[in-house]
Amino acid sequence: MVRLTIVWISSLALFVLPAVAQSPDLPEPGSVEAIAAATTDPHFVSPWVSYVPQSSTVPSPEKFLGRIMGAPGELLGTQKTYAYARALAAASPRVRVFTIGHSEEGREILMLAIADEAGIRDLDRLKAATAALADPRRTSAAAAERLIETSRPIYYFNAALHSDETGSTEAMIELAYRLTASEQPMIQRIRENVVVLINPISNPDGRDKMVDWFYRYLKGKTDRTALPRQSPPYWSKYTFVDINRDTHQQTHETTKAVHRMFHEWHPTVVHDLHEGLPLMMTWNGTGPYNPNIDPITYAEFLELSFHEVQALTAMGMPGVSTWNFGEAFAHLYLDSVAMNHNSIGRGYETFGNGSAETERRSVPQSDTTMEWYRPVPSPREVTWSARDNLNYQETGALAALDETARRSKEMVRNFYRKAWDSWQKGLTQPPCALLIPEDQGDPARVAQMIGRLVGQRIEVDRAQSAIQLKEGNFPAGTYVVRLDQPYRNYAVDLLTPQHYPKDGEAPYDDVSWELPAHYHLQAIPTADASIRNVALLRLTGPPRPTGRVIGAGPTYLLKDTGQESLLAARYHLADFEIQIAERDFEEGDTKFPAGSWILASQAGLHEAILSTAAELGLDFIQVSTPPDVPCHKAKTPRIGVWVPWADTDSIGWIRYSLDQRKVPYTYLRDEDIRVGNLRARIDVLLYGHVDLELAEQIEGLPKIWSPMPFKKTAETPSFGTPAESDDITGGIGYEGLAQIQHFIEDGGLMVTLGSGTMLALEGGLVRFVRRSSGGVPRSTAGGGAASSAASQQAATRTPGAHVRVTFDRAYHPIAYGYPAHTYVFRQNFPLYNIPRQWLRMAYCTTCLDGPEDRSGMVMEWGDTDGKPFVESGQAWGEENLIGRPAILDMPVGKGHVVCFNFNPMHRDLNRGDQRLLWNVLLNWQAIIAGQPKSARVSSSAPAPEE
Ligand SMILES: [Zn+2]
Repeated sequence: MVRLTIVWISSLALFVLPAVAQSPDLPEPGSVEAIAAATTDPHFVSPWVSYVPQSSTVPSPEKFLGRIMGAPGELLGTQKTYAYARALAAASPRVRVFTIGHSEEGREILMLAIADEAGIRDLDRLKAATAALADPRRTSAAAAERLIETSRPIYYFNAALHSDETGSTEAMIELAYRLTASEQPMIQRIRENVVVLINPISNPDGRDKMVDWFYRYLKGKTDRTALPRQSPPYWSKYTFVDINRDTHQQTHETTKAVHRMFHEWHPTVVHDLHEGLPLMMTWNGTGPYNPNIDPITYAEFLELSFHEVQALTAMGMPGVSTWNFGEAFAHLYLDSVAMNHNSIGRGYETFGNGSAETERRSVPQSDTTMEWYRPVPSPREVTWSARDNLNYQETGALAALDETARRSKEMVRNFYRKAWDSWQKGLTQPPCALLIPEDQGDPARVAQMIGRLVGQRIEVDRAQSAIQLKEGNFPAGTYVVRLDQPYRNYAVDLLTPQHYPKDGEAPYDDVSWELPAHYHLQAIPTADASIRNVALLRLTGPPRPTGRVIGAGPTYLLKDTGQESLLAARYHLADFEIQIAERDFEEGDTKFPAGSWILASQAGLHEAILSTAAELGLDFIQVSTPPDVPCHKAKTPRIGVWVPWADTDSIGWIRYSLDQRKVPYTYLRDEDIRVGNLRARIDVLLYGHVDLELAEQIEGLPKIWSPMPFKKTAETPSFGTPAESDDITGGIGYEGLAQIQHFIEDGGLMVTLGSGTMLALEGGLVRFVRRSSGGVPRSTAGGGAASSAASQQAATRTPGAHVRVTFDRAYHPIAYGYPAHTYVFRQNFPLYNIPRQWLRMAYCTTCLDGPEDRSGMVMEWGDTDGKPFVESGQAWGEENLIGRPAILDMPVGKGHVVCFNFNPMHRDLNRGDQRLLWNVLLNWQAIIAGQPKSARVSSSAPAPEE
């Protein structure tokens, strides 16, 4: 500690450089003084950003907005930011602005392009060049060399994705001005050799909410220990922090805009700006690395990161590090659009305060050691300002651009080379293609998965006739992903299992994202090169399967083959009575499994069935009389989705999924739960996964901050969407918990997912299930990477893996559409014991719990047929998980509680698991009635105590 302090002091003495304008720039009068005043220590600024260059033609941020960027106590919203960007473009032929999308709430997503005059004039030609280089099948190596001579790397910066990371917008606005107005040689070189794209506010809905929040709740507060919640409860319409995990699925407008931009410009680098670590981490992971990323990329991003570390360290800025932040195995973040498409995805974590105020900050001990990847560590305590944060971001960005300008031809050549490598791998290595048969029980779900591939610009074809291959015969209509294509590596990554090394470092996020596993489908590899000679038709968009209605008679049958669209279909047919078979039956030659639908003759039914079949890709069979099979009515439930103000993030994915399927629900805030009378308003209370401890789930945000309105007012015009509140503090409280208990006891059905299950099992709504271990939610260690890491250290962990399960009750409605042995996607959650008839709660020397009661066990972890536990990803300590409950269905009073020990609604990815939740919603009355009554006698169970 003492020694490190000495290192720190001496480094200060050695490295500080004078803050002078870079010749031939003249500083805008007052800018040097203003920047120095806003910077808390002369080491926290570089000569590059210690002044603002003077210009007689181009308005500086200060001239246009009245202050320097990163001034304490101020934040720019979208209107002013975009007005300035447009003013810059109007004043300079070196800048153009583009609208690349619109947010869910209708705000523009604006991007600046900056280069020298020739570059801006030539943007279309430069874009055409990168597009040509992206596809080596149409651009020979010789043609590529000619293109490289006259093309440029395109470097894209993405700011303000996470809205409480408030600094990057202003850093990028000042960078835009500096790149436009400065005449110093380094900037000229960047302008002449690079096209710089800047998206200053990638999540504009969140930015404006955050700006309102800052002025309403944070302005003027500098004591970090006394700060209230630092962020509004919502940024985007749906998810919150998790918006940066959207790259595979592209559900948010922010993600869609960045993906559209990517495929129009083919930027060589996509650089995401975050603010979570001191003082600047230029990230590239620590491994294990994903083998499906071209190895050139790993060398490239390390090289860029080391350049930044070197450049900032040489200018005397402490605390700059690399080789960290995640493992670079998963590529599911926003910058991953580049990693997955032969470009470079990268990012910073700088030391954001969240607020724009200056605060005294402690740096964790672990970040203050001198390491090979952190040559000058941060001091243990810093006084940190918004300008300090900006100085690091902008200086780092300039270093990266400088390196890109110097190595521009090599970087563009590597971009081409990676596309070439990917294509050639598909030509020279097996597999040659992956085949996805259409008939896998649910053509609509197959189409959804194909849509995800097409959305990633992976080329997908359709067989025009039957195909004979070494691996077997495939009918006409089979989807074919030929791997001799530039995005072959990404196709392989998405369509084959992940194998995370068991001896690897703790992973940062999901270790499996294999789409066939997420969708419960098969993609079959072929090593048969004759697939390249088969007649195929290229898809130009997601396929839209339409169902058929065949047969004759007034009764309609729908065979349950696991279709995901049954929930949407139920609401599509909301006006009609539907019966669901509780046992298998036969009709003619067709076998109908339990879960199949029976619709007796009803006025208007035929037309409704025709449109349901057409829209949702479902097949119906008409018969003369209803089959003789035990069945139950499937009335549409009135669904209530409880969204605690303390964590709206993961439940956002549920709201998204229900909205997409046009399934109506009541949004329940904490105060709506507290009011009670729930049974009169809803039938099913759905409580999703939350990153909250039990006490936080009940007590919510601390009442010491009360009242904390989140309402649209003149002062806070961006508040109040997608829900509003007079006071977001206080949670449901014990009064609300009692209301939930009344709801269940009065005959309601509660469903809990992921860590939401803690409320049911540990909050006492359901008795006699003991938590044994594991699954620390992120919030317990203070949120973010540190707490995520804490949960990743548990003895038993499945950090986002596809793992095997077994149904204990084959005829339970939740099992409809699934085989008895299947798999689900699981992140890290608590481990629960098998329910008992009672638990002894008092102290005892040999604690005696009641006998096991397996009647509530619907699904258990592990495959009782003995298949390996992991389908894709990795698991640790699974021997302690296997045999424990994966889904419980427990009677409470007149109602039931269904508890998932995983999250079937994970980021709209595990669509093959969603049907488990849909089954609960479709069969809510049968579940409450305990139908059907049979319970399978179970197999081995783990010991009650560990
Ligand atoms: Zn972030």
